[in-house]
Order: sequence, then structure tokens, then C-alpha cells
Amino acid sequence: MDFKEHIRVIMDYPQPGIRFKDITTLLKNGEAYKAAIDELAKLVKDLEIDVIAGPEARGFVIGAPLSYALGVGFIPIRKSGKLPGETIEADYSLEYGKDKLAMHKDAIKPGQRVLIADDLLATGGTIQTSIDLVQQLGGEVIGAAFLIELSYLDGRSKMNGIPVRSLITY
Ligand code: 5GP
Repeated sequence: MDFKEHIRVIMDYPQPGIRFKDITTLLKNGEAYKAAIDELAKLVKDLEIDVIAGPEARGFVIGAPLSYALGVGFIPIRKSGKLPGETIEADYSLEYGKDKLAMHKDAIKPGQRVLIADDLLATGGTIQTSIDLVQQLGGEVIGAAFLIELSYLDGRSKMNGIPVRSLITY
């Protein structure tokens, strides 16, 4: 399947100069969404994953079905103030803006092999912060999976050798 056909590119969103990759056009197509998750599952199958963690909100849309497909658990990485239990937090900056991500302190058992999943790798800021949180909790980040990678922003180079698997590259 040509997955790019299902991604809509929106110019100048959320600010001038950004060519936003809109995944909602893929998500609403059941056949394309299922095929994308199945393909991503194949791409990470060798990594011996204990659990998948994904940042809100689009990381849930990819990470949760991927967890289901692989039969492993899913851990939400949320914006500050959204998780009910005790949390750790970390600041991060995006391709366009700033925010704080949080995880429950007891989300991960030390030594667990964690795959981080998100819809898109741009500058790598979001994923770096997610990696940092998982590592602070004693998890071993064994890979990162994305529906889309914007290779021209070179987020991959910030991954410190952690394997990156992506389905669609721009
Ligand atoms: P990064 O932190 O790698 O610069 O940006 C990636 C994060 O921003 C991801 O969580 C992703 O959801 C969001 N993001 C940045 N640019 C885009 C885009 O063009 N399309 C989509 N769907 N998300 C984007």
C-alpha cells in the first residue's frame, strides 16, 4: 500500500512555513489504518519489546493499537497535570513551541524493554524527552517507532544509537 497517498499535507499549519502532515486522513480509512499498524508491527517485531510508551495525543493513536497488535502493554506519556498518580516530569521544545511531559513514577519496572511510539519524528525533541523519562524510571529504551519520519529535520541523529523504525519518510 502507498501510505503517503493517505497523508494530507497542510501548508502553513500551525504556523507559516510548516508543511503539516495530517494523519487524520489515514486514520479514518479502516483499511489504511490497519495496514499501517500491521506494517509497523512487522518493522519492530525483532526488538523483544516488553511494553510500549507513547506521548499524547497522536502517540496514543499509533502506540496503543501497536501494543494490541504485539500483545504488550501500553504506557501513556501525558502533558503535565493530566495523570492522577505520582509523576515525574520533563520539559521539551517542539518544532513549533514548548511543553512538559509526565509519566507515572510506577509506570515502568526497572530493566523493562520499552519501545517508544509516536505518529511523527520531526526534530526529535518529543522523543528525546520521552526517552529521558523512561530512562529516569529505569526502563531500557530499545527502539522508537513512527508512522512518519521527516528525514530533512534529522531527528534520528539525536537518538544516540537507539534503533528508529518508520513507515513513511519525507
Ligand atoms: P519533534 O518533537 O520531533 O520536533 O516533533 C514531533 C512531535 O510533534 C510529534 O509528537 C508530532 O505529533 C508533532 N508533530 C510535529 N510536526 C508534525 C506534523 O507535521 N504532523 C503531525 N501529525 N504531527 C507533527
